[in-house]
Amino acid sequence: MSQPDTVLVTGASGFIAGYCVEELLRHGYAVRGTVRDVTRTEKVAHLTALAAEFGGRLELVAARLDSDEGWAEAVEGCTSVLHVASPNPPAVPRDEDDVIRPAVEGTLRVLRAAAASSTVRRVVLTSSSSAIAGGRPDPVAGRHTEDDWSDIANCTPYEKSKTLAERAAWKFVDELPEQRHLELVAINPGLVVGPLQRPEVATSNETVQRLLDRSMPAVPHISWSIVDVRDIALAHRLAVESPKAAGNRYICAGPDVWMLDMARTLATKGLRVPTRRLPYWAMWLAARFDPTLRLALAFVGHPEKLSSQKAADDLGWTTRPTDETLHDTAQSLIDHGLAHPRR
Ligand code: NAP
Repeated sequence: MSQPDTVLVTGASGFIAGYCVEELLRHGYAVRGTVRDVTRTEKVAHLTALAAEFGGRLELVAARLDSDEGWAEAVEGCTSVLHVASPNPPAVPRDEDDVIRPAVEGTLRVLRAAAASSTVRRVVLTSSSSAIAGGRPDPVAGRHTEDDWSDIANCTPYEKSKTLAERAAWKFVDELPEQRHLELVAINPGLVVGPLQRPEVATSNETVQRLLDRSMPAVPHISWSIVDVRDIALAHRLAVESPKAAGNRYICAGPDVWMLDMARTLATKGLRVPTRRLPYWAMWLAARFDPTLRLALAFVGHPEKLSSQKAADDLGWTTRPTDETLHDTAQSLIDHGLAHPRR
């Protein structure tokens, strides 16, 4: 029997990366995952369980975005790399370089190691809709497409980090010498929501958690292009496999959903969530004391308006209904004891 292809997944302990690892294992790949600290067993218990389930086709190695150490060994023998790791803080950092530097320099470290290896053919970069619609410039016509880039002057530090990292990645592969061709694909997800593999709330699931815990008395007028983490993992695998994907970026996002509609969807399951709209002035006041709300202020009243048509056409990518995602997320948060809604 031939050996399965090995895919490197960076930041394997993260929310999205964990599902990418699982998706690849279920489809016959061997996976090497990088983590910052292999001794933090609580962060990787779900991965250890997956390694046991899939007969040892998963190994974990240490590598950090802020150090060259370990990357050459990590890519050794891999045919593809999913570069997923990047800081995803819940609030605006004190110094924007805390997110921008690891995002940009980490991406270049991974690409340099991939380009220097004799086996890696393709790198799939987990970028973001923030690199498309960050700063929320209105789409030229209808909805944002992959031709659009964020307005860096109006970006939050996180949006800037994703934009600069993706731009640096495209520049890097464009400037490679002719004899070293490395394919790059960027996946640009909307807000990634979904059930948890381990009991820690991912930053992007906080919106659902806050609704369930009624930590807001009313709901901000914010809209998200919600996408299920399981569907994002599928998009990453399709980006590894599709010959057409090389050299392309793909928006992978669901429909725009106002938070009020998210709340109403959760309420259909008998969960008592706030279902009144929070006026802007009240949100502005609350944001003085709540750093997450401060981050959200920039998004009030502006839907992202993203089109995922290209991912559907080129990759055959499909998503499950948003209601299913929201219900599964809520149930998972409750099951893990991370949300305590009243019924
Ligand atoms: P996450 O759970 O916080 O995962 C981020 C991963 O990056 C973690 O494994 C983390 O390691 C790792 N990481 C952060 N800084 C690092 C550093 N300096 N050195 C090494 N590893 C580092 O967040 P996520 O939601 O899964 O995000 C994964 C990727 O998807 C990111 O690139 C993010 O920008 C992108 N994305 C996310 C969303 C979303 O809504 N969640 C939307 C669009 C794009 P530790 O586990 O050790 O902290």
